[in-house]
Amino acid sequence: MDGFFHEGDLVAVLTTQPLDRPLDYRAPEGGCWQGAFVEVPLGPRRVVGVIWGPGKGDFDYAKVRPVTRVLDVAPMRDELRDFLEKAGAYTLTPLPAMLRLATRAPAVGDAPSMRKIYRKGEGRPDRETDARRRVLDVLDEMGGLALTQKELADAAGVTASVIKGLVKQGVVREEDAPRDTPYPRLDPDWGGKALTEDQQAGADDLRDGVRSGRYGTTLLKGVTGSGKTEVYLEAVAECLRQGRQALVLLPEIALTSEFLTRVEARFGARPAEWHHGVTSTERRRAWKMIATGGAQLVVGARSALFLPFRNLGLVVVDEEHDTSYKQEDGVLYNARDMAVLRASLNDAQVVLASATPSLESWANAEAGKYRRLTLTSRFGEAVMPEMRPIDMRGEDLPSNRWISPTLKKAVTSRIERGEQALLFLNRRGYAPVTICRACGHQIGCDHCDARMVEHRFAKRLVCHQCGESKPLPEACPSCEAEGKLAAVGPGVERMAEEAREAFPEARIAVLSSDLYGSARQLKAEIEEIANGGADLIIGTRLVAKGHNFPLLTLVGVIDADLGLQGSDLRAAERTFQLMRQVAGRAGRAEKRGIALMQTYQPEHPVIRAILSGDEEGFWRAEAEERRQAGVPPYGRMAGVILSSTDVQEVFELGNAMARQDGALRRVGAEVYGPAPAPVARVRGRHRVRLLVKAPKGVPLQRALAEWAGQFRLKGELRMAIDIDPQSF
Ligand code: ADP
Ligand code: ZN
Repeated sequence: MDGFFHEGDLVAVLTTQPLDRPLDYRAPEGGCWQGAFVEVPLGPRRVVGVIWGPGKGDFDYAKVRPVTRVLDVAPMRDELRDFLEKAGAYTLTPLPAMLRLATRAPAVGDAPSMRKIYRKGEGRPDRETDARRRVLDVLDEMGGLALTQKELADAAGVTASVIKGLVKQGVVREEDAPRDTPYPRLDPDWGGKALTEDQQAGADDLRDGVRSGRYGTTLLKGVTGSGKTEVYLEAVAECLRQGRQALVLLPEIALTSEFLTRVEARFGARPAEWHHGVTSTERRRAWKMIATGGAQLVVGARSALFLPFRNLGLVVVDEEHDTSYKQEDGVLYNARDMAVLRASLNDAQVVLASATPSLESWANAEAGKYRRLTLTSRFGEAVMPEMRPIDMRGEDLPSNRWISPTLKKAVTSRIERGEQALLFLNRRGYAPVTICRACGHQIGCDHCDARMVEHRFAKRLVCHQCGESKPLPEACPSCEAEGKLAAVGPGVERMAEEAREAFPEARIAVLSSDLYGSARQLKAEIEEIANGGADLIIGTRLVAKGHNFPLLTLVGVIDADLGLQGSDLRAAERTFQLMRQVAGRAGRAEKRGIALMQTYQPEHPVIRAILSGDEEGFWRAEAEERRQAGVPPYGRMAGVILSSTDVQEVFELGNAMARQDGALRRVGAEVYGPAPAPVARVRGRHRVRLLVKAPKGVPLQRALAEWAGQFRLKGELRMAIDIDPQSF
């Protein structure tokens, strides 16, 4: 039999331990399949791993230890192993770290009614002993795979009483392993809407793609409210009819509840959910059901790409341009690109949906690599809002006020008519800068190169870089003058204060991610607003993400110029997308909306493109600039971030790397820098960045690995390679 190993055969087992390759073991009694999840001894411990392939046999067979046991979990399928290898090779991530992405999620109990021990968050015991530490280490290593009390005691080499003690302290808990209940069946023919001609054509096209049973990517473009969701749900329906599984990725978990309601209306039942807001019990169920086919549709965050689908037929990436699809911590990957890779290995279709696609996807469609579907009009009577600038040079505004008289008048008239208005400012907190009026000192973070942002609601100064916070001081930390600290510039909390003064009668809701304790509270607030619970919404970029506010007819952008500062080549693209998205919130139902943009530079080409709505023109001009500069999507880039607590050490290594660039030059790549990284100091570590630019089609990863591999990372030094960085 192919892929089966008999007892005693040499097998290579990949674990999540930081080793450079899978290790050899002997297949256990009864043999095992390739891809099986197993427990193996490693030094004095036992860890979970996956049978990755045949063993290498470069050790003395007599010394090779046997696999301890095979876990009762569906083996990892070939496509997923292939995906982890290819994604790891693309992002230059070692396999153990890739495996962690696929097992963080954890599996399930062996027998339905078995009690198992689970780790409870990050809690520590009141007193650390070696025995207790070993128990916790084993649990951490299991990556969430649960053990019975006896198995855990054996693996950690402790007595049952140690574990009981930890249960009593609440550091771990013992509970019934979840039963394997499949999700309710979704009915593809349940509640489909009668589509418009435009939508029907799009749905037919996507359906044909799904029916082909082959890989293909479609860029589904259409203004907010044009029915993209309705259309791609038809592709999901077809995928279900084919007996295959579908995955819908959303950029923001606050969007899930509205979306799940729509799925339920369309298919008669709720799908599986996958994001960090889902309880661990539910995750274990989802993981197992996805592996065995008991879940037909998964709605989730980017990490859902690493789930063990049994037969994945379709991946939808909604709001595909959204920057939160890029994971910026640990394994640096872009979920949109990885969705395409995973689908291609599964003979699955991809739908990238957006009102304002990323330039990358736009270019791929232009080049014929992706199909393009466009929905041109909004559903029903609603149309894209009228867009108008407010030239701030002509507005009479006292200092420390940001709502111009023109904007104020417009908001007042909407509220009087019983409609909703939204004021948008992409800045959390009360004020971005706190300055001493006596000496000019600006309060910065002790650990980063960032200013502390005042959060008046929480009565603290917060660093948006590292999260460090401290109480607002009475006196200036530099000159000690009392009562001289002043807030400079607007944040969303300060806008709320100004709005309360300007519109004393209005019911005002502030939507900013940090003002809500939990995703559930935020969801509840969004639903409340959608149902008319507020007259005026003050929000950060959180509101730009696809929420449906049917009563909203006016959007006021407080500072349309905000994103255009700085030297980032993507700034124009970002601002264009964000402004179009925010404007798209207005007038979704029957009433036409209006978007007013406060700007000091109404002549700026990006502002003009936003106002005129000439998207194709904007993309062409932007594409031409990138082509000239040889940057993505017309060239390749990678960032190398070096960090250390010692600033001299990082620059020395950076300079050495810039000098010894032979491996890069041989493939036609160039290196720039070192320069301070976009965030130059984080948590006390100094960061410098080298940027590598290469023409398309060169073996960039191989060259990077060879180049970076020449340098030893002594002491505190760390290196992270970021393929396709977000900013350049
Ligand atoms: P998008 O995803 O492009 O923002 P949606 O699919 O969310 O657009 O559609 C916007 C609104 O219009 C939703 O409330 C949706 O249910 C409704 N809608 C879209 N198309 C139809 C249709 N053919 N029949 C009935 N309602 C529709
Ligand atoms: Zn900081």
